[in-house]
Amino acid sequence: MVLRDVTFDVAIIGAGPAGLAVLSALNGKLSVCVIDAHSWLTEWRGRFAALDIKFLRSESSANPDVFHSGVSEFAMRTGRRLPEFKWRTGRTLPETGLPESRLFEEFCDYLSSSLAHEFVVGTVTSVERATGGYDLTLDTKKVVRARHVVFALGAPGPPNVPEPWKLGPRVVHSSDWRRLGLDCVSSRDAVLVIGGGLSAAQAALKAARKGAKVALCSRRPLATRRFDLPENWPKRGRARLFEFYGTPLAQRAAWVDRERGGGTVPPSYLRELAGVRRVVDVVSEVDATLRVTFHGATEPFDATRVVLATGTTRNCARIPLVRDLVRAFDLPVLDGLPLVDETLRWGHERFTVVGALATLQVGPDAANLTGARRAAEICADDLGVYDIVDEPPRRLPHSNNKFDVLLGDDDDDDDDDSEEGSS
Ligand SMILES: Cc1cc2nc3c(=O)[nH]c(=O)nc-3n(C[C@H](O)[C@H](O)[C@H](O)COP(=O)(O)OP(=O)(O)OC[C@H]3O[C@@H](n4cnc5c(N)ncnc54)[C@H](O)[C@@H]3O)c2cc1C
Repeated sequence: MVLRDVTFDVAIIGAGPAGLAVLSALNGKLSVCVIDAHSWLTEWRGRFAALDIKFLRSESSANPDVFHSGVSEFAMRTGRRLPEFKWRTGRTLPETGLPESRLFEEFCDYLSSSLAHEFVVGTVTSVERATGGYDLTLDTKKVVRARHVVFALGAPGPPNVPEPWKLGPRVVHSSDWRRLGLDCVSSRDAVLVIGGGLSAAQAALKAARKGAKVALCSRRPLATRRFDLPENWPKRGRARLFEFYGTPLAQRAAWVDRERGGGTVPPSYLRELAGVRRVVDVVSEVDATLRVTFHGATEPFDATRVVLATGTTRNCARIPLVRDLVRAFDLPVLDGLPLVDETLRWGHERFTVVGALATLQVGPDAANLTGARRAAEICADDLGVYDIVDEPPRRLPHSNNKFDVLLGDDDDDDDDDSEEGSS
C-alpha cells in the first residue's frame, strides 16, 4: 500500500550524516520522508562504539547542520566545552576543537528531532516511476511515493577484502561493527589487524586495551596526518578544489585517490600505538587454524581473530539497489561511481546522489562531513529552497558563480595554513 496516499516532495534514502545534512539544508521548506532500516546515525554510532572512538577526527564546524556553528552552539547551550584548537602561531580558536563523539551524536539527535520529516523504517529495495514521481518499495512491503529521491546510502561499494582473506566468524571487516566483537576480546586472544588507517589503529588499540596479543600489519609504515584529507579541505584547499573541477570527469576518481592518499592516523594515535607490535609486510597465506604467513621476513602469526580495516571498494554496481537503478533507468556510471552532474542529479531522473557516491562531483571529502554538507547545499539549491537560508549570506545562490556553495562562511584566506595537530 502506498504510505497514507501521500506524495512527499523529497524522499531521502539513508539516515546517516549525509541524509541529515540534506534534511537540514532543505530546512522545512519541502515535505520530506527519510527511509532507513535503523534510526538516525545508527551506522555512525555503531562504528564509533565498536572501535571506542571518543573524539571525531574533524573539527566541530564539520557537521550536518546547514548552520555550520551548530555543534559549538549546542555545546555551549548544554554546558559543555569543546577542546581548544592550537595553531602554530600561538593563536587558539576556542570553538573549533575536535568534538567528543557523544556530543556530536547528541547534537545530531537534537538536529534530526528539530527538523520536520516523516521517518519510515525499512530498506528500499526498488524504485519505479509512478504518477507524479517515484514509488519506493521497502523490504517491509511499504511503498513511499515522492517527487524527488535523494540517495544518501553511505559507502560506494562493499567492504574491500584483499587476498588471501575470506570473511568468516573469526575474520571480520572493521565496517561490520555488529560482528566486530572487540568487546569480547581477552588476554587469551591474538588479534591481527590489517590496514594502515585510523580504523586499523583504533581496532589494534582496543584489542590491546583488552589485554590481547596484537599485531598491526600494514603494507607501508603508518603515515600520520591530523585529518584523512589535506588539512582543512576544502576551506584552505580551495585552489585544489577548483583544480578538481578543472579535471576531466574521466580523471577525477584517480585525482581524488591521489589527493586522499592512503590511510593515515593522527599524530596522537601514533604515540599511543608505541606499545603495539607493528608489522610492515604483506600477508601471503592463511590456513584453517588462522596461522598467517607473510611475503617478507615477518615471523608467522597465530591469530585467534583478524580484523580487516581495509576500507571499502568503489563499485556502486555491487550495491543491489544501485545496480537495479542503473539498469532500470539507464543511469551513467564512471569508475564505479554514479556519474552525476554538477547539481548532483543522476541521469534524466529526479534523483540526487550525496555522500561517497557523489565523489565525482563533490571531490575528495565527499565521504566526510564537510563534503556531505556541501552536497546537501547543492541539492537544496537545485530544489530551489537554498535561498531561504539566511546564513551565511555569501553563499546565496544565483550569483553566477557555480562554485559559491564551495565557500564556507569561515572561509578565510587570512588564516594561517599551518595548524598543529591537536588530537
Ligand atoms: C570509524 C569512522 C570514523 C569517521 N570519523 C569521521 C570524522 O570524524 N569526520 C568526518 O568528516 N568523517 C568521518 N568519517 C567518514 C564519514 O563521515 C562517515 O563514514 C559517515 O557515516 C558517512 O555518512 P553517510 O551518511 O554518507 O553514510 P552512513 O553513515 O553509512 O549512512 C548511510 C545510511 O544509508 C542507509 N541505507 C543504505 N542503503 C539503504 C537502502 N537501500 N534503504 C534504506 N536505507 C539505506 C544505511 O542503513 C545507513 O544508515 C568516519 C568514518 C568512519 C568509518
